[in-house]
Amino acid sequence: MEKIDLKQYTDFCVEETKTLLNIESPTGYTENAASWVREEFEKLGFEAKLTNKGGVLVSLGGSDRENGLLLEAHTDTLGGMVAEIKGNGRLRLTNLGGMNPNNAETEIVRVVTKFNGIYEGTFQLCNASIHVNGDYNSTKRSWDTCEVVLDEDVRKKEDTEKLGIAVGDIVCFEPNVRVTDSGYIKSRFLDDKLSVGILLGLAKYIRDEHILPKRALYAHITVFEEVGHGGAGNVPSGCTEAVSVDMGCVGEGLQCTEKQVSICAKDSGGPYSYPVVRGLIEAARRSGADYAVDIYPHYGSDVEATLSAGSDLRHGLIGAGVYASHGYERSHRDGAENTLRLLIAYAL
Ligand SMILES: [Zn+2]
Repeated sequence: MEKIDLKQYTDFCVEETKTLLNIESPTGYTENAASWVREEFEKLGFEAKLTNKGGVLVSLGGSDRENGLLLEAHTDTLGGMVAEIKGNGRLRLTNLGGMNPNNAETEIVRVVTKFNGIYEGTFQLCNASIHVNGDYNSTKRSWDTCEVVLDEDVRKKEDTEKLGIAVGDIVCFEPNVRVTDSGYIKSRFLDDKLSVGILLGLAKYIRDEHILPKRALYAHITVFEEVGHGGAGNVPSGCTEAVSVDMGCVGEGLQCTEKQVSICAKDSGGPYSYPVVRGLIEAARRSGADYAVDIYPHYGSDVEATLSAGSDLRHGLIGAGVYASHGYERSHRDGAENTLRLLIAYAL
Protein backbone atom coordinates (compact mmCIF):
# COMPACT_ATOMS: atom_id res chain seq x y z
CA MET A 1 0.00 0.00 0.00
CA GLU A 2 1.43 3.36 -1.04
CA LYS A 3 1.89 5.79 1.82
CA ILE A 4 -0.59 8.61 1.29
CA ASP A 5 0.37 12.25 1.75
CA LEU A 6 -1.46 13.51 4.81
CA LYS A 7 0.37 16.81 5.36
CA GLN A 8 -2.60 19.09 4.69
CA TYR A 9 -4.87 16.95 6.86
CA THR A 10 -2.33 16.87 9.68
CA ASP A 11 -2.01 20.66 9.45
CA PHE A 12 -5.78 20.84 9.78
CA CYS A 13 -5.77 18.48 12.81
CA VAL A 14 -3.20 20.67 14.57
CA GLU A 15 -5.03 23.93 13.79
CA GLU A 16 -8.38 22.55 14.95
CA THR A 17 -6.75 21.18 18.09
CA LYS A 18 -5.23 24.59 18.87
CA THR A 19 -8.59 26.31 18.52
CA LEU A 20 -10.37 23.75 20.67
CA LEU A 21 -7.66 23.85 23.36
CA ASN A 22 -8.41 27.54 23.78
CA ILE A 23 -12.12 26.89 24.38
CA GLU A 24 -12.23 26.09 28.08
CA SER A 25 -14.18 22.93 28.87
CA PRO A 26 -13.61 21.36 32.27
CA THR A 27 -15.86 18.36 32.74
CA GLY A 28 -19.30 19.74 33.64
CA TYR A 29 -18.81 22.94 31.62
CA THR A 30 -18.50 21.79 28.04
CA GLU A 31 -21.29 23.62 26.18
CA ASN A 32 -19.01 26.05 24.34
CA ALA A 33 -16.58 23.36 23.24
CA ALA A 34 -19.35 21.00 22.15
CA SER A 35 -21.09 23.72 20.11
CA TRP A 36 -17.82 24.52 18.38
CA VAL A 37 -17.17 20.83 17.64
CA ARG A 38 -20.67 20.38 16.21
CA GLU A 39 -20.26 23.42 13.97
CA GLU A 40 -16.89 22.22 12.68
CA PHE A 41 -18.30 18.83 11.66
CA GLU A 42 -21.26 20.57 10.04
CA LYS A 43 -18.94 22.91 8.14
CA LEU A 44 -17.34 19.78 6.69
CA GLY A 45 -20.77 18.66 5.51
CA PHE A 46 -21.62 16.02 8.11
CA GLU A 47 -24.74 15.66 10.17
CA ALA A 48 -23.85 16.37 13.80
CA LYS A 49 -26.23 16.66 16.72
CA LEU A 50 -25.89 17.58 20.36
CA THR A 51 -26.89 14.78 22.70
CA ASN A 52 -29.03 15.45 25.76
CA LYS A 53 -25.97 14.87 27.90
CA GLY A 54 -24.01 17.52 25.98
CA GLY A 55 -21.80 15.48 23.65
CA VAL A 56 -21.77 15.55 19.86
CA LEU A 57 -22.80 12.59 17.73
CA VAL A 58 -21.70 12.66 14.09
CA SER A 59 -22.54 10.41 11.17
CA LEU A 60 -19.56 10.11 8.83
CA GLY A 61 -21.35 8.05 6.16
CA GLY A 62 -20.80 4.42 5.23
CA SER A 63 -22.86 1.74 3.57
CA ASP A 64 -22.96 -1.32 5.86
CA ARG A 65 -25.35 -0.19 8.59
CA GLU A 66 -25.44 -3.61 10.27
CA ASN A 67 -21.75 -3.54 11.08
CA GLY A 68 -21.15 0.04 12.22
CA LEU A 69 -18.00 1.43 13.82
CA LEU A 70 -18.19 4.10 16.49
CA LEU A 71 -15.15 6.30 17.23
CA GLU A 72 -15.14 8.03 20.61
CA ALA A 73 -13.05 11.02 21.72
CA HIS A 74 -13.76 13.38 24.59
CA THR A 75 -13.81 17.15 24.71
CA ASP A 76 -14.17 17.52 28.48
CA THR A 77 -10.98 18.17 30.42
CA LEU A 78 -9.68 18.37 33.95
CA GLY A 79 -10.43 21.47 35.99
CA GLY A 80 -11.54 22.75 39.36
CA MET A 81 -14.64 23.84 41.22
CA VAL A 82 -15.04 26.33 44.05
CA ALA A 83 -15.45 24.28 47.23
CA GLU A 84 -15.26 27.13 49.76
CA ILE A 85 -14.88 30.89 49.89
CA LYS A 86 -12.32 31.32 52.63
CA GLY A 87 -12.36 33.96 55.35
CA ASN A 88 -9.62 35.87 53.49
CA GLY A 89 -11.74 35.98 50.33
CA ARG A 90 -9.64 33.40 48.51
CA LEU A 91 -10.98 30.16 47.09
CA ARG A 92 -10.45 26.57 48.11
CA LEU A 93 -11.01 24.27 45.16
CA THR A 94 -12.04 20.70 44.61
CA ASN A 95 -10.84 18.78 41.58
CA LEU A 96 -12.84 18.01 38.47
CA GLY A 97 -11.42 14.75 37.14
CA GLY A 98 -7.77 14.05 37.93
CA MET A 99 -6.58 17.66 38.12
CA ASN A 100 -3.49 17.65 40.31
CA PRO A 101 -2.37 20.57 42.52
CA ASN A 102 1.26 19.42 42.18
CA ASN A 103 1.45 20.48 38.55
CA ALA A 104 -1.13 23.29 38.62
CA GLU A 105 0.54 25.58 41.13
CA THR A 106 1.09 29.14 39.82
CA GLU A 107 -1.29 28.57 36.91
CA ILE A 108 -3.61 31.34 35.81
CA VAL A 109 -7.26 30.39 36.33
CA ARG A 110 -10.64 31.75 35.33
CA VAL A 111 -13.60 31.42 37.66
CA VAL A 112 -16.79 31.02 35.63
CA THR A 113 -19.72 32.17 37.78
CA LYS A 114 -23.26 31.16 36.96
CA PHE A 115 -24.72 34.67 36.91
CA ASN A 116 -21.94 37.26 37.21
CA GLY A 117 -19.35 36.70 34.50
CA ILE A 118 -15.78 35.45 34.67
CA TYR A 119 -13.01 36.44 37.06
CA GLU A 120 -9.27 35.84 36.71
CA GLY A 121 -7.00 34.61 39.44
CA THR A 122 -3.93 32.47 40.11
CA PHE A 123 -3.72 29.06 41.74
CA GLN A 124 -1.07 29.48 44.43
CA LEU A 125 0.31 27.81 47.51
CA CYS A 126 -1.29 29.41 50.59
CA ASN A 127 1.14 32.08 51.88
CA ALA A 128 3.10 31.88 48.63
CA SER A 129 5.88 34.43 49.23
CA ILE A 130 9.08 32.46 49.72
CA HIS A 131 10.61 35.44 51.60
CA VAL A 132 7.83 35.16 54.17
CA ASN A 133 6.92 31.47 54.34
CA GLY A 134 9.71 29.30 55.82
CA ASP A 135 7.75 26.13 55.01
CA TYR A 136 7.38 26.97 51.32
CA ASN A 137 9.58 24.10 50.11
CA SER A 138 8.44 21.45 52.56
CA THR A 139 4.68 21.98 52.22
CA LYS A 140 2.91 19.16 50.40
CA ARG A 141 0.78 20.61 47.64
CA SER A 142 -2.87 19.68 47.95
CA TRP A 143 -6.30 21.23 47.42
CA ASP A 144 -6.14 22.27 51.09
CA THR A 145 -2.69 23.89 50.97
CA CYS A 146 -3.29 25.73 47.69
CA GLU A 147 -5.86 28.40 46.87
CA VAL A 148 -7.06 30.74 44.17
CA VAL A 149 -5.89 34.32 44.67
CA LEU A 150 -8.42 36.43 42.78
CA ASP A 151 -7.19 39.47 40.87
CA GLU A 152 -9.86 41.58 42.53
CA ASP A 153 -9.85 43.68 45.69
CA VAL A 154 -11.03 41.04 48.09
CA ARG A 155 -9.90 40.86 51.71
CA LYS A 156 -12.71 38.86 53.26
CA LYS A 157 -15.36 36.32 52.35
CA GLU A 158 -18.10 38.95 51.86
CA ASP A 159 -15.99 40.82 49.26
CA THR A 160 -15.78 37.70 47.12
CA GLU A 161 -19.46 36.89 47.58
CA LYS A 162 -20.30 40.42 46.44
CA LEU A 163 -18.57 39.68 43.11
CA GLY A 164 -21.08 36.90 42.61
CA ILE A 165 -18.61 34.06 43.11
CA ALA A 166 -20.19 31.05 44.79
CA VAL A 167 -19.48 27.49 45.86
CA GLY A 168 -19.97 25.25 42.81
CA ASP A 169 -18.57 27.68 40.27
CA ILE A 170 -16.33 26.15 37.62
CA VAL A 171 -12.62 26.99 37.59
CA CYS A 172 -10.67 26.71 34.32
CA PHE A 173 -6.89 26.36 34.24
CA GLU A 174 -4.95 28.11 31.45
CA PRO A 175 -4.00 25.56 28.77
CA ASN A 176 -0.83 27.38 27.54
CA VAL A 177 -0.98 26.13 23.96
CA ARG A 178 2.29 26.09 22.00
CA VAL A 179 3.34 24.41 18.76
CA THR A 180 7.09 24.50 18.21
CA ASP A 181 8.87 24.80 14.84
CA SER A 182 10.04 21.23 15.44
CA GLY A 183 6.44 20.01 15.50
CA TYR A 184 5.92 19.45 19.21
CA ILE A 185 2.49 20.37 20.55
CA LYS A 186 2.53 21.46 24.19
CA SER A 187 -0.57 22.25 26.22
CA ARG A 188 -2.70 21.16 29.10
CA PHE A 189 -5.63 19.04 27.99
CA LEU A 190 -4.18 17.53 24.82
CA ASP A 191 -6.04 14.68 26.51
CA ASP A 192 -8.30 14.50 24.63
CA LYS A 193 -8.64 17.56 22.44
CA LEU A 194 -5.83 16.37 20.18
CA SER A 195 -7.99 13.34 19.33
CA VAL A 196 -11.00 15.54 18.61
CA GLY A 197 -8.76 17.48 16.21
CA ILE A 198 -7.70 14.17 14.62
CA LEU A 199 -11.33 13.06 14.14
CA LEU A 200 -12.06 16.41 12.48
CA GLY A 201 -9.05 15.71 10.23
CA LEU A 202 -10.52 12.30 9.41
CA ALA A 203 -13.85 13.95 8.54
CA LYS A 204 -12.07 16.42 6.26
CA TYR A 205 -10.22 13.55 4.56
CA ILE A 206 -13.50 11.67 3.95
CA ARG A 207 -15.07 14.78 2.45
CA ASP A 208 -12.15 16.04 0.36
CA GLU A 209 -11.25 12.60 -1.01
CA HIS A 210 -14.93 11.73 -1.67
CA ILE A 211 -14.78 8.51 0.33
CA LEU A 212 -17.77 6.40 1.28
CA PRO A 213 -16.69 4.28 4.26
CA LYS A 214 -17.48 0.58 3.82
CA ARG A 215 -18.97 0.29 7.29
CA ALA A 216 -21.31 2.89 8.75
CA LEU A 217 -18.96 5.22 10.61
CA TYR A 218 -19.86 7.46 13.54
CA ALA A 219 -17.98 9.77 15.86
CA HIS A 220 -19.13 10.49 19.38
CA ILE A 221 -17.37 13.46 20.94
CA THR A 222 -18.14 12.71 24.55
CA VAL A 223 -18.33 14.78 27.71
CA PHE A 224 -17.92 13.57 31.31
CA GLU A 225 -15.15 11.16 30.22
CA GLU A 226 -12.83 12.53 32.90
CA VAL A 227 -15.30 11.37 35.55
CA GLY A 228 -15.86 7.98 33.95
CA HIS A 229 -19.19 7.96 32.12
CA GLY A 230 -18.50 9.85 28.88
CA GLY A 231 -19.11 6.94 26.53
CA ALA A 232 -21.98 5.44 28.54
CA GLY A 233 -24.68 5.90 25.94
CA ASN A 234 -25.50 7.27 22.49
CA VAL A 235 -24.36 4.19 20.60
CA PRO A 236 -26.02 4.36 17.16
CA SER A 237 -28.01 1.25 16.29
CA GLY A 238 -26.15 -1.26 14.16
CA CYS A 239 -22.74 -0.57 15.72
CA THR A 240 -20.79 -3.75 16.40
CA GLU A 241 -17.53 -2.10 17.36
CA ALA A 242 -16.31 0.98 19.22
CA VAL A 243 -12.80 2.43 19.32
CA SER A 244 -11.76 5.12 21.76
CA VAL A 245 -9.42 7.68 20.26
CA ASP A 246 -7.75 9.03 23.36
CA MET A 247 -4.24 9.94 24.42
CA GLY A 248 -1.61 7.22 24.14
CA CYS A 249 0.53 6.78 27.26
CA VAL A 250 4.24 7.67 27.09
CA GLY A 251 6.56 6.94 30.01
CA GLU A 252 9.05 4.58 31.60
CA GLY A 253 8.42 0.94 30.78
CA LEU A 254 6.29 1.78 27.75
CA GLN A 255 7.33 1.74 24.10
CA CYS A 256 5.39 4.63 22.58
CA THR A 257 6.78 8.11 21.85
CA GLU A 258 4.95 11.34 21.14
CA LYS A 259 5.63 10.84 17.43
CA GLN A 260 3.81 7.51 17.24
CA VAL A 261 0.27 6.22 17.46
CA SER A 262 -0.23 4.01 20.48
CA ILE A 263 -2.37 0.89 20.28
CA CYS A 264 -3.49 -0.12 23.76
CA ALA A 265 -3.59 -3.86 24.46
CA LYS A 266 -4.73 -3.55 28.09
CA ASP A 267 -5.43 -0.87 30.67
CA SER A 268 -6.94 -0.73 34.16
CA GLY A 269 -10.19 -2.06 32.69
CA GLY A 270 -8.51 -5.18 31.35
CA PRO A 271 -7.62 -6.33 27.85
CA TYR A 272 -9.09 -4.82 24.71
CA SER A 273 -10.80 -7.02 22.14
CA TYR A 274 -8.12 -9.25 20.62
CA PRO A 275 -9.50 -9.13 17.05
CA VAL A 276 -9.68 -5.33 17.25
CA VAL A 277 -6.11 -4.96 18.55
CA ARG A 278 -4.88 -7.37 15.87
CA GLY A 279 -6.84 -5.48 13.20
CA LEU A 280 -5.40 -2.15 14.35
CA ILE A 281 -1.85 -3.53 14.20
CA GLU A 282 -2.49 -4.93 10.71
CA ALA A 283 -3.89 -1.57 9.58
CA ALA A 284 -0.87 0.29 11.00
CA ARG A 285 1.53 -2.04 9.17
CA ARG A 286 -0.43 -1.86 5.93
CA SER A 287 -0.58 1.94 5.92
CA GLY A 288 2.93 2.64 7.17
CA ALA A 289 1.70 4.31 10.39
CA ASP A 290 4.49 4.37 12.96
CA TYR A 291 2.94 2.62 15.98
CA ALA A 292 3.66 1.00 19.31
CA VAL A 293 1.58 -1.47 21.33
CA ASP A 294 1.50 -0.82 25.05
CA ILE A 295 -0.11 -1.65 28.39
CA TYR A 296 -1.42 1.40 30.28
CA PRO A 297 -1.02 0.83 34.03
CA HIS A 298 -3.37 3.60 35.28
CA TYR A 299 -5.98 4.31 32.65
CA GLY A 300 -9.64 3.92 31.80
CA SER A 301 -11.30 4.81 28.51
CA ASP A 302 -14.61 5.98 27.13
CA VAL A 303 -15.20 2.69 25.37
CA GLU A 304 -15.00 0.81 28.67
CA ALA A 305 -17.82 3.04 29.91
CA THR A 306 -19.74 2.10 26.74
CA LEU A 307 -19.31 -1.59 27.58
CA SER A 308 -20.10 -1.10 31.27
CA ALA A 309 -23.34 0.62 30.26
CA GLY A 310 -24.40 -2.60 28.57
CA SER A 311 -23.48 -2.28 24.89
CA ASP A 312 -22.62 -5.47 23.02
CA LEU A 313 -19.50 -4.39 21.12
CA ARG A 314 -15.92 -5.29 20.30
CA HIS A 315 -13.67 -2.54 21.67
CA GLY A 316 -10.31 -0.89 21.07
CA LEU A 317 -8.23 2.11 22.10
CA ILE A 318 -5.70 4.12 20.12
CA GLY A 319 -4.23 7.60 20.33
CA ALA A 320 -1.27 9.83 19.65
CA GLY A 321 1.47 9.50 22.27
CA VAL A 322 1.15 12.13 25.01
CA TYR A 323 3.85 12.70 27.62
CA ALA A 324 3.27 14.21 31.09
CA SER A 325 -0.40 13.27 30.95
CA HIS A 326 -2.78 15.23 33.18
CA GLY A 327 0.00 17.81 33.59
CA TYR A 328 1.59 20.13 31.06
CA GLU A 329 1.26 17.62 28.26
CA ARG A 330 3.34 17.17 25.11
CA SER A 331 2.69 15.40 21.84
CA HIS A 332 3.92 15.86 18.27
CA ARG A 333 2.31 16.46 14.90
CA ASP A 334 3.78 13.12 13.74
CA GLY A 335 1.76 11.41 16.48
CA ALA A 336 -1.37 13.07 15.12
CA GLU A 337 -0.46 12.09 11.57
CA ASN A 338 0.21 8.47 12.49
CA THR A 339 -3.09 8.28 14.37
CA LEU A 340 -4.92 9.73 11.36
CA ARG A 341 -3.12 7.31 9.03
CA LEU A 342 -4.11 4.35 11.18
CA LEU A 343 -7.73 5.51 11.35
CA ILE A 344 -7.91 5.92 7.57
CA ALA A 345 -6.55 2.42 7.05
CA TYR A 346 -8.73 0.83 9.71
CA ALA A 347 -12.04 2.64 9.43
CA LEU A 348 -12.42 3.55 5.76
ZN1 LIG B 1 -8.58 11.14 27.92
